[in-house]
Formats: sequence, structure tokens, C-alpha cells
Amino acid sequence: MDAPRERTSWLQGGGAVCRTPPRAVARPSRLVLLGPPGVGKGTQAQLLFVHTGACALSTGDIFRNAKSGTVERPSPAMRTAVTSMNRGELVPDDIVLSIVHERLRCLTCRGGFLLDGFPRTVAQAEALDQLLANEGLHLHAALHYELPTRAVVSRLTGRRTCPVCKTVFHLTSRPPKSAGLCDYCHGPLVQRADDEPETVGVRMAEYVECTAPLVDYYRAHGRLRTIDASGTPNEVFERTLSILHSATRAPV
Ligand code: AMP
Repeated sequence: MDAPRERTSWLQGGGAVCRTPPRAVARPSRLVLLGPPGVGKGTQAQLLFVHTGACALSTGDIFRNAKSGTVERPSPAMRTAVTSMNRGELVPDDIVLSIVHERLRCLTCRGGFLLDGFPRTVAQAEALDQLLANEGLHLHAALHYELPTRAVVSRLTGRRTCPVCKTVFHLTSRPPKSAGLCDYCHGPLVQRADDEPETVGVRMAEYVECTAPLVDYYRAHGRLRTIDASGTPNEVFERTLSILHSATRAPV
């Protein structure tokens, strides 16, 4: 699989510019990926990036990047976000929205976008629609990945991530070529603090309460596409492509 693009604009915000911006495409993909934490949205976003050229944009990556200390002077909003994330709680909507707004250039990017982890509440989804409408753009589809809770928990606790390029591996379903090392950066993989068993329960409860209503929101707006997330990443990706080809006009 290709290494992910570096996404400086998204991770740092403000005036930060990507060193290798996406190439312009005639019909950029603008998609949201939905589903419980650990369902495999990040992996599907990475596969879709390889296929469409659109950047995989995760709000969780922004907060983890700030937490890792690579942001020189994190704003008060960013510090609040990191505190919420460390507790396994959702970051308040106004803070998430101000941070996303600072990265508007990624949403209007000529390469399109694949949003992972945002929106997470109906208020965020409404704000995203408004933001796009203000720019004369719209979302093509919300891809909703479904999996039984027991399988989701096992995926979360086996997940390992590269802190440099953010590629996600799994101890059993997507092991790195060398145990414990990133296939691309060759540095050590880490377990995310919010994938520790005690935080996973809080995140699952949060998902049911706040994020599941998003499914109803996108269904009501005719943009929901539900995908069975069981099986290997490639099997899920095949389903993703066939749903996109048959059910949306999104270019894939
Ligand atoms: P994720 O990588 O998407 O699972 O996000 C990790 C953590 O970051 C979440 O558990 C939340 O604490 C926080 N987070 C990420 N995106 C959002 C969002 N859109 N709204 C609220 N909190 C978020």
C-alpha cells in the first residue's frame, strides 16, 4: 500500500502548507467515513486515498499530533481538545469546529477529502454541510461501516499505529512486515493511549450516545451508504468500491 501523504495543512492548521499537495482531479471525492472506533475507518480511508488521491483527514490525528509535542505553541482550544481525548471523552463541538475551520483549505482542496472521525455529532455534521455550502461544495456520501461490538473491541485492543506517518496496523489482521515496526518509516509502532482497555469502554458508550444519531442524519439526507465491515481490509474495500460505484455519483 502507498505511504500516506504527509498532510501538513491538516495536522498543523493555520498557514501550514503541504509539501506535496494533492494533484487536482476533475471530480474530487468528498466523503465522510462513519462507524464505531476500531471498525477500520482509518484503514479504509488509507485504501481510498490510494484509489482516489483524496487525503484521509482524521480529527483524532490532529489531536494526537498536538499531544505528541510537535506543535510548537498549542492554542488553548487545542490543549482542551487533548485533555478531552486523554479522558476518552469527545472534544466539545465548538472546539472541534474551530479547529476544523482553521483547516478549511483541506476541505476545499482540489484533491477532495476523506473525513475520518469528523463529524462525530449531528451538530458537527450540520456545521460541515454549512461550511461546504458556503464554498459551493457538497458531500458525496457518508460511508457507514458496521460491525458487532465484540469484534470492534478486539480490533481496538490489537491496533498499533506509526506515530510518524499514522499508518494503522493490527497484531493479527494487518501485521507489519517486521514485528513492531512501521513498514514505511521503520520506526517502532505504538498502542494509542485511547485504545487501552479502560478507555475503550468510555469511547464505545460515547459513540452510541453521540455519533450513532449521525447515521439517522445522513440517512434522512439520502447520503448514507452502509457497508459490512467484517473480513479483511481488502474485502471491506471491495464492498466500499462497489457501493460507491453503484450507489453514488462520487468518482472512485
Ligand atoms: P479517533 O482517532 O477518531 O478515534 O479520535 C480519538 C479521540 O479524539 C476521540 O476519542 C475524541 O476524544 C477525540 N475526537 C476526534 N475527533 C473528534 C470529533 N470530531 N469530535 C469530538 N471529539 C473528537
